[in-house]
Amino acid sequence: MWGYPEPISRLIEHFMKLPGIGPKTAARLAFHVLGMPADEVAAFARALADVKTKLTECAVCCNITEASPCAICSDPARDTHTLCVVQDPKDVMAMERTHEYRGMYHVLHGAISPMDGVGPNDLRIRQLLQRIADSDIREVILATNPNVEGEATAMYIARLLKPFPVTVTRLAHGLPVGADLEYADEVTLAKALEGRRHV
Ligand SMILES: [Zn+2]
Repeated sequence: MWGYPEPISRLIEHFMKLPGIGPKTAARLAFHVLGMPADEVAAFARALADVKTKLTECAVCCNITEASPCAICSDPARDTHTLCVVQDPKDVMAMERTHEYRGMYHVLHGAISPMDGVGPNDLRIRQLLQRIADSDIREVILATNPNVEGEATAMYIARLLKPFPVTVTRLAHGLPVGADLEYADEVTLAKALEGRRHV
């Protein structure tokens, strides 16, 4: 039986490790790469490698960045009294797109999910508490996703923040329940931010 040459089958295997990519799509992608100009393939390979080698976590907000502290944390024009806690770096992008928010961020890198084996210690919660203890933050906006894991994470953090002299708020309803923050449109997200409530 004829099999793909080894470099092609190896590339197919790597594509199949990506989310939502089955064997057929993986083969189609691998052959597409084979048909690309060599310099484009080299640039693609470099981009893949750079994602791991050129990015680091911001020592302040835990967002991914090329240099720590990140551009937002080192921007003197931002409101340092307000802190928005989000699950993922993509959620920071979503909030920034609203152009309504001028405060700081803290990226948890996930949500508490016992089903997926994600506990509080797997998230950047310890860093969050340390940061709140060390700074003059007055309001913490819990902007985790409006689904079961996001709500559980928000409630968990709200409890931990009780001893701190900060106002804790949660984005208003109106966000599609069960959806990810990153998929909310700017207007909905801006409204949810404006109508945030105390927890
Ligand atoms: Zn930062």
